[in-house]
Amino acid sequence: MARDARGGTAQNEDFASWYTELVFKAGLVDRGPAKGTMVIRPYGYRLWELLQEELDRRIKDTGHENASFPLLIPESYLSREAEHVEGFSPELAVVTHAGGKELDEPLVVRPTSETVIGEMMSKWVASHRDLPLLLNQWANVVRWEMRPRMFLRTTEFLWQEGHTAHADADSAMRETTWALEMYSQVARDIAAMPVIAGEKTAGERFAGAASTFTIEGMMGDGRALQAGTSHYMATNFAEAFGITYAGEDGGSTLCHTTSWGMSTRMVGGVVLTHGDDRGLVLPPRLAPHQVVVVPIGKGDALARVEREAGDLAERLRRAGVRTHVDTRPQVSPGFKFNDWELKGVPIRLELGPRDLDSGTGVLVRRVGDEGKETVPLETLPERVPAVLDEFQAFLLRRATRFRDAHTVTVDEWTSFAEAVSTGWARAFHCGNAACEDDIKAHTAATPRCVPLDADAESGACVRCGAAADYDKRVVFGRAY
Ligand code: AMP
Repeated sequence: MARDARGGTAQNEDFASWYTELVFKAGLVDRGPAKGTMVIRPYGYRLWELLQEELDRRIKDTGHENASFPLLIPESYLSREAEHVEGFSPELAVVTHAGGKELDEPLVVRPTSETVIGEMMSKWVASHRDLPLLLNQWANVVRWEMRPRMFLRTTEFLWQEGHTAHADADSAMRETTWALEMYSQVARDIAAMPVIAGEKTAGERFAGAASTFTIEGMMGDGRALQAGTSHYMATNFAEAFGITYAGEDGGSTLCHTTSWGMSTRMVGGVVLTHGDDRGLVLPPRLAPHQVVVVPIGKGDALARVEREAGDLAERLRRAGVRTHVDTRPQVSPGFKFNDWELKGVPIRLELGPRDLDSGTGVLVRRVGDEGKETVPLETLPERVPAVLDEFQAFLLRRATRFRDAHTVTVDEWTSFAEAVSTGWARAFHCGNAACEDDIKAHTAATPRCVPLDADAESGACVRCGAAADYDKRVVFGRAY
């Protein structure tokens, strides 16, 4: 069996096992006691916090405000929007007993918060002056997932959920598009994931939405990951919860609402996009440690190297670089090199007594063709931020090349199955739910999205030959 250096499963042997082993080995997660739950360990949580900071800043900069709504929602709330309750029912966890008694009305552990936020919006919106109402919540939610997988699909996950109410469809649609574009930017510029943004077909829509938009990333095995979604609800939830405002003419008008979410799934997305057989490869903008300094030497010489390493780390931190010095006494430098490679640290700096004498250190990038580089210590606070930027750009370029090399334009059903066995197929589609099911049954692929920026084209459905329902090719792939 092919084995990587650390005795785990290699990517090309079994990508899914490689992933699961890695998220544990790298110290990102542990299993929770209840099925499908996960414990996010400090290293994984720091990564999530860095992503959170990026999202939170963008959300607040555009006038949205954070608030916190209850975890427990009366069951009857969900039933008020027929499609919503139908879609979420199989995934609900329901509290029937509390305080030693059976409850008069069961409480649902929130799978998402449109209902309870909709109820509050109906109280808070009275006139057009209250609109748009731009809310966001950072929370945990519970969905009873049948096939849980660490980060990607857990029964409890962390996310932000934006919920907004608007005076008309145009304003709500602009919001939906803004959230989608914000997610694309964060995925691309922060996580170095070259996602494509598009609309979901009817069969893949959020339960209760009029339209659902998504960003889809290609993982290292060619599968797709839905990395964030933005929904336009039209007046569906406004009708169910009475979210209305008095227009300028005094009449009562229904609001148009939106919701949008990105979750801890993104941590899994980063692992699946960039990782290799030696471990994680973290984009600098999400790396808990961007640089790890490994002091080398023995006795007094080591003490001197560690002092210098501490000074250097301080100077790097002042230059805005997240720097860690690994002074663990009980393990060798070689062990440390492997350990930080496993943990995906972008840059390692090796520092020994001879390096200090010549005023240099050895800089090693986690991936890339540059190899080891001897660098003057003096210039590092200036140099390292530039190297980190280059590294970030390199990861995005590499992932983009990979995606493009694994995306095929197909018109024949015979080439479709082959294309989706290693990546994505761009094909015409009739938009029929039965045809979608048939495609899935034969190839395990689903329509990921109708890309927003694709050229308008028309043709016959790749499966059934009927006229395409969209004026663009649809991207199909097997998904996580
Ligand atoms: P939704 O409310 O269904 O549109 O979900 C919003 C986003 O949360 C999705 O685009 C996923 O990225 C993420 N997500 C959905 N279900 C899960 C889950 N079980 N575990 C982790 N992330 C999830």
